Formats: sequence, structure tokens, C-alpha cells
Amino acid sequence: MPTGFTSVDTLREGDPQGNRMVLKLCSRSGHEIHAIGVPQDWPSRTGPTWCYVLDSDGITLIDPGAHGSFSELEDGLQVAGYSVKDIDRVVVTHGHSDHDGSIAQLVETSDSTVWAHEMYAALINYNPWEVQNRDASPIHAEMNRVVSGNLDRRSSSYAARNRRYVDSRKGLNVEHTVEHGDRVGDVEFIYAPGHSPDELCLTFDNIVFTGDHVLPEITPHPTTKAGYSDHVSEDIPSKYSDPSRSYGLKTYMVSLKTVLDLGESYAVLPAHRLYNRGKFNFVSVNRAAEVINHHSRRLSQIVQRIDDRPTGLEDMTRGVFERRKLIGGNLFMALSEIVAHIELLQDLGDVEFTDDSKIRHTGTMEFRQFCDGLVN
Ligand SMILES: [Zn+2]
Ligand SMILES: [Zn+2]
Repeated sequence: MPTGFTSVDTLREGDPQGNRMVLKLCSRSGHEIHAIGVPQDWPSRTGPTWCYVLDSDGITLIDPGAHGSFSELEDGLQVAGYSVKDIDRVVVTHGHSDHDGSIAQLVETSDSTVWAHEMYAALINYNPWEVQNRDASPIHAEMNRVVSGNLDRRSSSYAARNRRYVDSRKGLNVEHTVEHGDRVGDVEFIYAPGHSPDELCLTFDNIVFTGDHVLPEITPHPTTKAGYSDHVSEDIPSKYSDPSRSYGLKTYMVSLKTVLDLGESYAVLPAHRLYNRGKFNFVSVNRAAEVINHHSRRLSQIVQRIDDRPTGLEDMTRGVFERRKLIGGNLFMALSEIVAHIELLQDLGDVEFTDDSKIRHTGTMEFRQFCDGLVN
């Protein structure tokens, strides 16, 4: 039996990725948790979004799932023995369309109240991609230059779907904005920014629901730093007015340590890859250390690639990632992942971004101490 659970029953089989699968898990203290693999209606390498239902001071749904998949949520809930009307509260782990895409429909169809981090509420009226000023620093300007030189036109169906998602959330009333350490019933909230500025994890009976913060098999995409766009900054609570509080690889890695520090008795229930290729992926919070080590290796790889030869951002990205990973929208994802690492190295003084847009190693390796300090 996986750590943290006394039983795992499959109420409905899904496909090999876990789409439409419904599980009943029993926690150590005998609490039932239902897990629903809500499919995404677009091609996705992350597999379904795992939405969870638990009973603690009322019925809580963690994430309503992807935009366009509301009927799949309703259907999965029914298999788990619930109707949408039974949901007292919905907790949004973060504002990405595969997690809160159905929030508007859920609120319309049920009497549930919306719970999310206060940054989620602050950003609800914006397209997640437009929140940051992408020319805020020289390295961001260089990233934009490379992206526009390799324009592949993100598909118009993507743009249209994203627009529908963004419009559906506008004006949503987030009744309960939560902060790190807040509780409801036996659930405690953890603010874990970095993959997203509003990411929440939830603990309950030696289990941590990690949203996209910690995932088995895959490493969540870290955000880059950069500043808030002018029109957004007025809506940001003053506590979060410094974007480095909520964005960037350093922020993400510190948030990984927060989860790691819960201790290995905590089992992870992730929002993706709980099941994949016909197998369960039950992991403990030690998975957070593996993700930290992944980024530590990548930082090392970047510094080694520069050696004593200042390197451009595009060359660096093409050197680190395989060619097949750099086509379509993936180029932007790869570039921004490299930028996130370079920003951390800049903060620690290990690299500089030169006036001629090259990354130069200063000779120090402070990142090693930073990473070791997180896992030891
Ligand atoms: Zn996400
Ligand atoms: Zn996700």
C-alpha cells in the first residue's frame, strides 16, 4: 500500500493516462478522498488534471479541472457518489486553465464558495500571460527578440480557447482569499509560489495536495522574474508588490523546500501524473528534493556550457534542449526555463548578462551552496 493510505480502490477504470479514472483513497486516519482524472480537451503531455474531493467541515473540491471539461467533472463526481450541488467549497490550486478552467460553470451550477490564494483573486481579471511586463529586464528583452525571430504562430485554436477561458473567469467572486497557514476544518493551506504566483498546496491527514507545485515524473515549469505590467500592479496587494516574492526559480525552489520540510511521512497527491502508462505514481514529499536536484543539475549544466566563453541565450537554449523540444510553442517554454535559471545565477552572482546580450560566468559557483542548503 502506498505511504499515507490504507486502501486505494478503483471506482472506474480510465485510459492508460488516467483520463476519466475515479479512485477512492482511504487516509491513515480513515478519511475518504476521491480522485477524479478530468481530461483536458486539448493535446496535453501532462495527462488529466486530478481533482480531489474530501470531507472536512463540509465537502471540499480541489480544482474543478480544465476549461471545456465541466461535464467530465460532473460525470466523475457522480461515479464518486457526489453531485455538483454537494460541493460546499472549491479550492483553486492556481490560475492555469487546466486547473480552474471550469470554475465559472461550477459556481453557476452549485452553491459552492470559491477559496484561493489572495494573489489568485488579484489576478483573476487578467490573462496569465499578460500579467508580467516581458521587457522588464535586458534578458527578457533578449528572450522576446529570439521568440519573435522564430515566430511559429501559436495556433489560433489555442488563442481562441485561451480567450474563452480568460473571459469566463472575469469578475469571478473569490469569497475566501487565503494566506499561508490559514486553515479550514483539518485542511491547512501552504503558499507555494514559483510555478505560478498564486500556487496553493493543502495538507490534510499526512497528505499534501500539491497542485502543479510537485509532480511525479515531470518537473513543473518555473516562472521567470520580471515586473508587473502597469495596469496589473494596482490590483496587486502591497505585500506582493515585489514580483520576486511570487515569481522566479529561486522563489519556486524555496517553495519546494517548504513542502519538503513537511517530512517524508507526507504523501503527495498531485494534479498530474498520479497515474500514467497504466501505473500509479504514489510519491512522498521527497519528490520535492528530486525536483530541486533537477534544477541544481541544470544550473550546473548552464555554468559548464559557458565555461570561459560568453554565450548567447538562443545558443544556450539550443545547446541544453534537444532539437525536437524546440519546435512550436516549446521554444518559448525552453527559453523561459533557461532564463529562469540564468536569473537565479545572476542573483547569486555566478553569471552576468553583458551589454552585448551574452551570458558570462563570473567564476563563482554560489548556486551549489544555495541548492545544498535546500535539500540538507
Ligand atoms: Zn500550472
Ligand atoms: Zn497543470
